[in-house]
Amino acid sequence: MNINECMHYAKDILKNANIEAPVHEAGVMLCKVLKCGRTYLYSHGDRELSIDEKAVLDHMLVQRTGNIPLQYIVGDTEFMSLRFLVTPAVLIPRQDTELLVEKTIDLLNQGKTGTNKKVLDMCTGSGCIAVSIAYFCPECSIVACDVSQKALDVAKANSELNGVQNRVELCCGDLFDAIKGGQKFDIIVSNPPYIETDIIAGLQKEVRSYEPGLALDGGADGLVFYRRIISSAPERLNRNGWLAFEIGYNQGEKVSALMKESFVDIQIFKDYGGNDRVVIGQLIP
Ligand code: GLN
Repeated sequence: MNINECMHYAKDILKNANIEAPVHEAGVMLCKVLKCGRTYLYSHGDRELSIDEKAVLDHMLVQRTGNIPLQYIVGDTEFMSLRFLVTPAVLIPRQDTELLVEKTIDLLNQGKTGTNKKVLDMCTGSGCIAVSIAYFCPECSIVACDVSQKALDVAKANSELNGVQNRVELCCGDLFDAIKGGQKFDIIVSNPPYIETDIIAGLQKEVRSYEPGLALDGGADGLVFYRRIISSAPERLNRNGWLAFEIGYNQGEKVSALMKESFVDIQIFKDYGGNDRVVIGQLIP
């Protein structure tokens, strides 16, 4: 089979399995199999696949029709126009999370944080937030924490892949326990687990069966990590420091209310779907 034929073949299999974007996914798989870019697929449609290449494609299709997320199958994804490796030890970076990164970069660029520019990314997972901030803000240094060492291994690989390993320090531990000494930060950013425990079983199979439960489960009311981070953040922030969270679509008011005790200038931002997605606030002077 040549590339054109394989595109159709893979697309049909994915479509029959009710995969939402079969043409796109077929293309991503073929690029991975052939180690090429998308344009190569279109300009070399009559290039034949070897038996081994076809076998790799077939294996990917079996995995995908079993609802394994595409990103785990091909092993990487794009976030903030950068490439990130992903394994089942980490949550797959979401486009919604780009809003949190953009708002954090805005705070850094507006100089609202003073001159230090030290950022803490709490619950870093794949490192997508920490690495993107380091990449787009060359003056700042980042500490990125996670409770999972396996996740931190992925974050380390991603910091190296994007050339920011000298400015991203990785620490393992339970929230602020991971941080050594009395370090303080200008911004604490976090996309913590925030799904209510009872909701997880009803999520689509890709998420509930394959993404790490640890990265999703925000406790009975989904707010456990916000409470813990908000209560410890003030002693870890420099004067005029900011706290920036990603939140679930229905958590804007609840998380803002939790922040009110220690933060001012609390703002909620909506994602492209029109849902509340990011909350920021500045430490009360
Ligand atoms: N910070 C990572 C992300 O935004 C992981 C978040 C998490 O594990 N809850 O994708």
